[in-house]
Amino acid sequence: MKELNEIECFLLDMDGTIYLGGELIEGAKEFLALLKSQKRRTIFLTNNSSKNAADYEAKLKGLGIEASVDEIFTSGEATAKTLQLRHPGARVFLMGTPALESVFLEHGFVLVKEREEAADLVVLGFDTTLTYDKIWQACDRIREGAVYYATHPDFNCPLAGGKWMPDTGAMIKMIEGSTGMLPEVIGKPEKTMIEAVSAKFDVDLGKIAMVGDRLYTDIRMGEVAGITSILVYSGETTPIDYEKSDIQASFVFESVKELAEALKEA
Ligand SMILES: [Mg+2]
Repeated sequence: MKELNEIECFLLDMDGTIYLGGELIEGAKEFLALLKSQKRRTIFLTNNSSKNAADYEAKLKGLGIEASVDEIFTSGEATAKTLQLRHPGARVFLMGTPALESVFLEHGFVLVKEREEAADLVVLGFDTTLTYDKIWQACDRIREGAVYYATHPDFNCPLAGGKWMPDTGAMIKMIEGSTGMLPEVIGKPEKTMIEAVSAKFDVDLGKIAMVGDRLYTDIRMGEVAGITSILVYSGETTPIDYEKSDIQASFVFESVKELAEALKEA
């Protein structure tokens, strides 16, 4: 664990950390401006694989935050990059949105959709276009020996007003119910996510910190990858949850607003 003033690059979760649903978290804009003025680097890091970097650039812009696609990294891109090294050009049965499909096509994969076409891999993303036929094909293909991956393990995606959308972790459970099989997960909290960050961005892992609101992904990744982690209470985790958890953050703040205050003093 590093002192706050030693951190040169902040990996920032978005949902629950920078914004919640369609609204910025108070102080988020000032926090980002401070990091810029202090010449600290930011990388927006999300497990949500239903959207791509361009979608997030537009979303952040709509909230008044200027970020380039080069500063945004999704679990979908991390998965495509990781699998490109392990299985270049593979035939993939992908459960994902058109945005995730475009990421896989850009990384040289062949997307297989029809039952009679063989696939080497089954990849499960946050598929908001999921159909019964996709679930059925995925289960058959996994049983038949396709190598099975998932982009991230989150059970629910937070929405404004305390509401939730069922996420990839819930789909993993459904497929496990049918096949008894579990995927290898690439996104937070897995070490593969940090390895993918490291491969894409020139960062010193000794001087980065993960800032996020979720214990079992953002903060757990700090433990798994041996990097500094900063928990904020502006999203999913409450102080009571944290007290009961065996996952430990390096630092805890109410929100990025209080983190900014601490960075001013550091
Ligand atoms: Mg979050």
